[in-house]
Order: sequence, then C-alpha cells, then structure tokens
Amino acid sequence: MDKPDLIIRSRRVVMSETVSPASVHIRKGIITALGEWDEFTAQTPLVDAGDAVVMPGLVDAHVHVNEPGRTEWEGFTTATRAAAAGGVTTLVDMPLNSIPPTTTPDGFSQKLAAARGQCLIDVAFWGGVIPGNTHELKPLLDAGVRGFKCFLIHSGVDEFPHVTETHLLEAMPELARLNSVLLVHAEVPEPIENAAAELKGNPQDYQTFLKSRPRASENEAVELMIRLCRKTGARVHIVHHSSSDVLPLLKTAREEGLPITVETCPHYLTFAAEEIPDGATHFKCCPPVRERENREQLWAALADGVIDMIVSDHSPCTPNLKLLETGDFLEAWGGIAALQFSLPAIWTQIQKRGFGLHELSRWMSAAPARLAGLDKRKGRLAVGFDADIVIFQPEKKFKVVPEIIEFKNKLTPYAGMNLRGVVQSTYVRGVRVYEQGRFAENANGELLAK
Ligand SMILES: [Zn+2]
Repeated sequence: MDKPDLIIRSRRVVMSETVSPASVHIRKGIITALGEWDEFTAQTPLVDAGDAVVMPGLVDAHVHVNEPGRTEWEGFTTATRAAAAGGVTTLVDMPLNSIPPTTTPDGFSQKLAAARGQCLIDVAFWGGVIPGNTHELKPLLDAGVRGFKCFLIHSGVDEFPHVTETHLLEAMPELARLNSVLLVHAEVPEPIENAAAELKGNPQDYQTFLKSRPRASENEAVELMIRLCRKTGARVHIVHHSSSDVLPLLKTAREEGLPITVETCPHYLTFAAEEIPDGATHFKCCPPVRERENREQLWAALADGVIDMIVSDHSPCTPNLKLLETGDFLEAWGGIAALQFSLPAIWTQIQKRGFGLHELSRWMSAAPARLAGLDKRKGRLAVGFDADIVIFQPEKKFKVVPEIIEFKNKLTPYAGMNLRGVVQSTYVRGVRVYEQGRFAENANGELLAK
C-alpha cells in the first residue's frame, strides 16, 4: 500500500464508535487508515496533537455568502476564513442574497465564477425554487447544486420571491423525480399579517418583535410541508426550525416514514427571548429566537432525533441595516452573523446538558454532510473520506472580541461572551488551512459542483 504523506495523532480521536487514542493516516488528502496511536514511521511527517481532540471538520449546510451582488454583506474570502477559524471544513452556500440568486444555471455560473480562487475551505451550493423556475431545476442539478431552497413567505430580498402551495405542487413532483431535496423556510404569511394588524408595543422591545412572528406561522408551514411531502414524495428539509409546538408532529411524520429532516441553529439553542436586551437588533432573525422553555424543547428534540442537525444560518449584513441607532426590531434586517462561533457556542451548551463529542460530531458534521449528499466523502473520520480535520481544545475558553472575528461585518450576538472550546487548527483534504490565528496563503478550497 502507498505510504501516507501525513499522520495526525492524538489521545482523543473522534471516530464512529469511540473517542480513543489513534493515528489518522493521510495520503493525497484522503484518509487511508485509522491506526493505533503509536503506528507511524519516522519518515512520515507527524502532527502530534497530544491530548487535543481530533475530529471531523464541521459541515455547515446553511451559509449566506452573498457574493456576487451583496459582497459588502459577506464574501467568499471572509466567509471561508471565518469558517476555517471556526472548524468548518465545508460550507454550503444559500441561493439568495447574492445577485443574481442561484435560481438559473446562468446565476449559478456567475456564483461559481465569483467563488473561484477565493475559498479557503470546500464550498458546495444550494439552488433555489421560485415561482415558475421548475424547468431550471434539472439543469441546476446537472450543473452541481446539492438541492434547493424555497421560502413560504417574503424572503427579505425581492429577487428571490416566495412560493405558495400551487407552485410547490408543480416543483415538488419534479424534485421527487430528480430525487433531490427541498429546503424550506417554514413560515407562512397569514398569522404574521394578522399579528401585524393587531401589533402594539415599542418596536425596540424584543417582545414586540416576537409577537410579530408568532409560532402559528411556523406551525402552519410545517403542517403544510408534511402534507405536501406525503402527497408528492419529495424529500423535505425544514431549515432553522424554532417553534417547539410542532416537534410532536414532526416526530409522527418521521415515524410514518416520511422523508423529512430538520435543522436548528446555535442561536435558538443558546439565547432566550426573555434575555434579549431592548434595541439589540443583532439578535433579530426569522423565525425568531423564542422563549427559554422553547429552547429546552429544541434540545430535547435533538436528543430524541427529531431535529437532525445544527447549522449556522450565517446571514450577515452591513451594520447600518441593523438600525442600531433606533434599535427598531421591526425594521432592522433579520439575520445573525456567527459562522465562526457555531462550534464553541454549541460545545459550551452541550457541556451543560450532558452530551459529548459524538453528538457534536453527528449534529454538526455527519448529518449536514448527508443532507448535502456529501456523506460518501465528508462528515466522518473514516477510510476513504476526505481528511477534513479539526484539532480542538475542548477545555479551553475564549472571549468573543471584534479582533478575532474573521467574517466581514463584526456585529454578532455572541460579542463579549465567554465560550468554551478553541479551534487550534483546521485541515481541508490534508492541508492545514488554519492554525492559531494564522491562515494558509493559498485559497485551495474546492468548489463541490459536479
Ligand atoms: Zn438562511
């Protein structure tokens, strides 16, 4: 057998069944063996991680890079640097907020052209379902998108219009035929319109915003998608799920065997509506961060397997759009910037709740890799898989300060927080792209589009 060109070893390597001493043998970016801790030859370069955890790189299946078109919000260089510093080795870019959106093959080729040569980590892409683009879905899949995202309510940007049941009844049978997956922003307009008509209260008060995005909007959207999943057979994935009310429904749908998966995000699992200060619009996202009790139900659903994964929904904007001077929650842009801090934010919470490295790895690496159809090469440390590896110091703590933030716009709800878990270094296909604040010079991230 060909000799490895790199070995990374540690006393704590996260593998499918165990966390144990091992050596990861790598050749040409691929894991060729998981050997005993002391299994190496003097000729092979060795990275000895000591007691630090060696685990699969994170796959973040929900990132808005926004380039081209809104590159001042975020771009491929800054997003992939932030990802690398946060232990993310693959991200999947969302089809909207960039201009053009990824809803046509031409839009996709513009996206690829913008990304080329800028990415420090591997990047894959979601396409979009909008009214009238069913005929574009197959060409987009052929061009390499990993699946499709749609909105059931105004997306926030006019060039990515939302769909109704009528549109979905056209698009979903096509997605079923193509064996693709539909990612759904699950809020429907009616309960939100009704809430707006009756809305009273100070717009700087988080509770006013919370009332403006009632749970009913999410609940009805999830009910609709379960129904359409059953009817069309298309795979459905609920993005950034927040309302705990429908978790029992989702559980029943899964027990019925419907192909539905669910994600939630670090902010829903960390923050609570009761604790968000007045005017702190950097906490605004849709659906909103809900009450403490809701957060605890989301954790229970992760433990139960009803929620499959945790992804960032990194959705930044320029600071002016957050309207911090007025602190108006109703008018500010909705979206949270935190790509770099998903891992420590979740690790900090996991520690309090009795979970461990296996859950972390399943929720943040293996499950999102499967969603994006990358589970034959990413999301696990296993022979034949890409050597996407994070060396992680789970006991160390750090404070989130602007100087360490690598994403373009530094406004984040994690500012000032002390988080547990430091990413020491990040390897993408066997190449170290990040180590203790320093980055690789070459942006050799692969565009996973084919
Ligand atoms: Zn999003």
